[in-house]
Amino acid sequence: MATKQCMIVNIANDTYAINEYGLSAMFLLIGRDKAMLIDTGCGICDIKGIVGRLTDKPLMTVLTHAHGDHVGGAFRFDEIYLHKADEGMLRNTDSEGMKRYVEGFVDNPFDYGTGEKYPDVYSVRGTDVAEFTKVPETLHYIEDGDVIDLGDRPVEVIGTPGHTPGSISFLDRKTRVLFSGDACNVNLLLPWGNVSDALRGLYKLRDHKDEFDRNYNGHIGYAMMLSCAPMPERVLTDCIYICEGLVAGTLEGSMSETPYGRSAIITFGSVRITYDPDNVQGK
Ligand SMILES: [Zn+2]
Ligand SMILES: [Zn+2]
Repeated sequence: MATKQCMIVNIANDTYAINEYGLSAMFLLIGRDKAMLIDTGCGICDIKGIVGRLTDKPLMTVLTHAHGDHVGGAFRFDEIYLHKADEGMLRNTDSEGMKRYVEGFVDNPFDYGTGEKYPDVYSVRGTDVAEFTKVPETLHYIEDGDVIDLGDRPVEVIGTPGHTPGSISFLDRKTRVLFSGDACNVNLLLPWGNVSDALRGLYKLRDHKDEFDRNYNGHIGYAMMLSCAPMPERVLTDCIYICEGLVAGTLEGSMSETPYGRSAIITFGSVRITYDPDNVQGK
């Protein structure tokens, strides 16, 4: 099977966005002493090979969370850094699930919220997903408040649970870029967690708003968005507005069939949130 090449964009000094065919996004930050890879994609591209061509610095690989579309290439690494709460999910990574995820985009490329068809621009198939042959031998745990110094380039870890229990974001102080994984985006998925936790994480991002100029999520090239552009500033404020309304009971979504089972969906401004109406406050 040929290994496909994905889109690599230099988004800041010594910083690259790696867009895996609109399915997932990874980021490479290169410091004076070492480099950091944020997420590993679905497992279609040879992410380790790509990183090796961009830097020869020692590499640490970190995960924003352990959903399959972010850990699919983790088997290529011996060591990985993640929040402990997502360890079980990483250990249960299933290549078959990832193949179905990719096929879903390829065979039925439409937005389940709006019914709008996605442009069919990428020639990848589920069969391009590499087998997840092993969990990295060494797992290191990171959590809210940790600062990882890449050498004259401190990167702060911000705990943003909700999408998954162990979701974290990374604030690169040098370039003033935030990498928020799936914790804050235009298609915020919370059917597996609760809105209340997510809101606390979003408040933390807002607390740091004077420290970043750009916010990239884990799906920069997602679906309709074909560029490697950061998200509009209002995505964070819209996410907060909706979550506050859901927690306070002043807003309510409508029930719908989604790829994640029957869930509630609510849309405001730039953002759509899918959530479990029986688990808004947390159990
Ligand atoms: Zn996710
Ligand atoms: Zn994702």
